[in-house]
Amino acid sequence: MPNRQLSTDELALANKLLDEVRSELNRLAGGDTDLLFAFRRKIAKELTYDERDKPGPRRALKARMRALQNNICPLCKGELPESYCVLDRFNAPDGYVEANVRLICEPCDRRVQKERRFK
Ligand SMILES: [Zn+2]
Repeated sequence: MPNRQLSTDELALANKLLDEVRSELNRLAGGDTDLLFAFRRKIAKELTYDERDKPGPRRALKARMRALQNNICPLCKGELPESYCVLDRFNAPDGYVEANVRLICEPCDRRVQKERRFK
Protein backbone atom coordinates (compact mmCIF):
# COMPACT_ATOMS: atom_id res chain seq x y z
CA MET A 1 0.00 0.00 0.00
CA PRO A 2 1.50 3.37 -0.93
CA ASN A 3 2.09 5.75 1.98
CA ARG A 4 -0.23 8.71 2.31
CA GLN A 5 1.15 11.86 0.77
CA LEU A 6 0.56 15.37 2.09
CA SER A 7 -1.66 17.73 0.12
CA THR A 8 -0.22 21.10 -0.84
CA ASP A 9 -1.92 22.75 2.16
CA GLU A 10 -0.76 20.01 4.54
CA LEU A 11 2.77 20.30 3.20
CA ALA A 12 2.69 24.04 3.86
CA LEU A 13 1.57 23.35 7.46
CA ALA A 14 4.35 20.80 7.94
CA ASN A 15 6.95 23.22 6.58
CA LYS A 16 5.63 26.00 8.84
CA LEU A 17 5.93 23.70 11.87
CA LEU A 18 9.43 22.69 10.81
CA ASP A 19 10.41 26.37 10.57
CA GLU A 20 8.99 26.95 14.06
CA VAL A 21 10.85 23.96 15.50
CA ARG A 22 14.11 25.09 13.91
CA SER A 23 13.60 28.61 15.18
CA GLU A 24 12.88 27.35 18.71
CA LEU A 25 15.92 25.06 18.66
CA ASN A 26 18.10 28.01 17.65
CA ARG A 27 16.56 30.14 20.40
CA LEU A 28 17.13 27.44 23.04
CA ALA A 29 20.72 26.87 21.91
CA GLY A 30 21.49 30.58 22.15
CA GLY A 31 24.27 30.42 19.57
CA ASP A 32 25.95 27.35 21.09
CA THR A 33 26.48 25.11 18.05
CA ASP A 34 27.25 22.02 20.16
CA LEU A 35 24.01 22.51 22.11
CA LEU A 36 22.06 23.09 18.89
CA PHE A 37 23.50 19.83 17.55
CA ALA A 38 22.49 17.97 20.73
CA PHE A 39 18.95 19.43 20.73
CA ARG A 40 18.48 18.67 17.03
CA ARG A 41 19.80 15.13 17.45
CA LYS A 42 17.50 14.46 20.42
CA ILE A 43 14.40 15.71 18.59
CA ALA A 44 15.28 13.79 15.40
CA LYS A 45 15.85 10.59 17.39
CA GLU A 46 12.58 10.85 19.29
CA LEU A 47 10.58 11.61 16.12
CA THR A 48 12.22 8.61 14.45
CA TYR A 49 11.16 6.46 17.42
CA ASP A 50 7.60 7.78 17.04
CA GLU A 51 7.65 6.52 13.47
CA ARG A 52 9.77 3.37 13.80
CA ASP A 53 9.59 2.39 17.49
CA LYS A 54 12.63 2.08 19.76
CA PRO A 55 15.50 -0.33 18.97
CA GLY A 56 14.67 -2.76 21.84
CA PRO A 57 11.08 -3.50 20.79
CA ARG A 58 12.15 -3.68 17.12
CA ARG A 59 14.88 -6.21 17.97
CA ALA A 60 12.36 -8.27 19.97
CA LEU A 61 9.86 -8.17 17.09
CA LYS A 62 12.56 -9.27 14.64
CA ALA A 63 13.37 -12.24 16.86
CA ARG A 64 9.68 -13.18 17.12
CA MET A 65 9.17 -12.89 13.35
CA ARG A 66 12.31 -14.93 12.67
CA ALA A 67 10.91 -17.71 14.88
CA LEU A 68 7.40 -17.48 13.39
CA GLN A 69 8.82 -17.66 9.87
CA ASN A 70 11.12 -20.58 10.77
CA ASN A 71 14.12 -18.44 9.81
CA ILE A 72 12.90 -18.23 6.18
CA CYS A 73 12.49 -15.10 4.04
CA PRO A 74 8.84 -15.30 2.88
CA LEU A 75 9.69 -13.76 -0.50
CA CYS A 76 12.69 -15.69 -1.83
CA LYS A 77 12.18 -18.69 0.50
CA GLY A 78 15.88 -18.54 1.40
CA GLU A 79 17.28 -18.81 4.91
CA LEU A 80 17.37 -15.44 6.66
CA PRO A 81 20.91 -14.16 7.29
CA GLU A 82 21.99 -13.59 10.90
CA SER A 83 22.01 -9.81 10.37
CA TYR A 84 20.78 -7.24 7.86
CA CYS A 85 17.24 -8.57 7.87
CA VAL A 86 14.48 -6.01 7.46
CA LEU A 87 11.10 -5.70 9.14
CA ASP A 88 8.89 -4.88 6.16
CA ARG A 89 5.59 -3.20 7.04
CA PHE A 90 2.59 -3.99 4.88
CA ASN A 91 1.03 -0.62 5.76
CA ALA A 92 3.62 1.76 7.25
CA PRO A 93 1.22 3.85 9.41
CA ASP A 94 0.06 0.68 11.19
CA GLY A 95 3.54 0.44 12.69
CA TYR A 96 5.81 -2.36 13.76
CA VAL A 97 3.34 -4.92 15.11
CA GLU A 98 3.36 -8.62 14.41
CA ALA A 99 0.26 -8.53 12.18
CA ASN A 100 1.72 -5.76 10.01
CA VAL A 101 5.26 -6.98 9.33
CA ARG A 102 7.31 -9.71 7.76
CA LEU A 103 11.05 -10.25 8.21
CA ILE A 104 12.78 -10.30 4.83
CA CYS A 105 16.36 -10.53 3.61
CA GLU A 106 18.18 -7.42 2.39
CA PRO A 107 18.11 -8.26 -1.35
CA CYS A 108 14.35 -8.85 -1.17
CA ASP A 109 13.94 -5.58 0.75
CA ARG A 110 15.82 -3.66 -1.96
CA ARG A 111 13.60 -5.22 -4.63
CA VAL A 112 10.38 -4.50 -2.67
CA GLN A 113 11.40 -0.87 -2.02
CA LYS A 114 12.23 -0.38 -5.69
CA GLU A 115 8.89 -1.86 -6.77
CA ARG A 116 7.02 0.40 -4.34
CA ARG A 117 8.69 3.49 -5.76
CA PHE A 118 7.36 2.64 -9.20
CA LYS A 119 3.72 2.28 -8.04
ZN1 LIG B 1 14.53 -12.89 0.50
